[in-house]
Amino acid sequence: MLLMGVRFIHKIGIMCVKSAKCNIMFSFGKLIIQTAVIKIETDREKIAAYAEIKADENESFRTYLQNRNSQMVDQMVHELNALVEPQVDCTACGACCNGLMINVTQPELESVAAHLAMPNDLFKSQYIEESLGGMMIINTIPCHFLHEKKCTMYEHRFKECRDFPHLHKPNFTDRLFGTLMHYSICPIIFNVIEQLKIETAFLNVKQ
Ligand code: SF4
Ligand code: SF4
Repeated sequence: MLLMGVRFIHKIGIMCVKSAKCNIMFSFGKLIIQTAVIKIETDREKIAAYAEIKADENESFRTYLQNRNSQMVDQMVHELNALVEPQVDCTACGACCNGLMINVTQPELESVAAHLAMPNDLFKSQYIEESLGGMMIINTIPCHFLHEKKCTMYEHRFKECRDFPHLHKPNFTDRLFGTLMHYSICPIIFNVIEQLKIETAFLNVKQ
């Protein structure tokens, strides 16, 4: 799948190397953003295979990112996520629902119980347990509400589910370990990370 992507260049005056495909916005002293065509991989078998091949590379990339400017990395990740995330159909994936521990707040418990026409106490006894840290969590992994690859209450899913893989949040470099842990299963993470390797010039440095 192809989509319009971004390029971030940190030096002033660099010309677009793919001029046939790019529009360039020059901004002195700031990021220069140019649009380009990037390829999105959504085949989860291929992604899992790439993850094995790229395990060492990803470890190096983690170290590389930890030595970059965190705010600059955040800006790149947010831009890339905004491009990639709409191109990936989570309702046809559900991989994270097979492995995440989902925190639930009291208002969420009440809202979902109402949606399922269940008393709060019954919902809690059937679906919730207390974590070691005293939080309410869904008591099964995979999640109760996953049927085949689909969430059976997608429009009512918990905030934790909506937020995953957290690429819209600040301080991405503080979450590298957890993010890369899900690189092999989440097409959104995979594509953002692979594009980020290009945008941060990691692949040039590595060669
Ligand atoms: S967030 Fe990632 S792992 Fe979860 S359903 Fe969407 S693409 Fe799949
Ligand atoms: S509530 Fe839905 S989206 Fe959240 S983990 Fe369960 S199945 Fe996945």
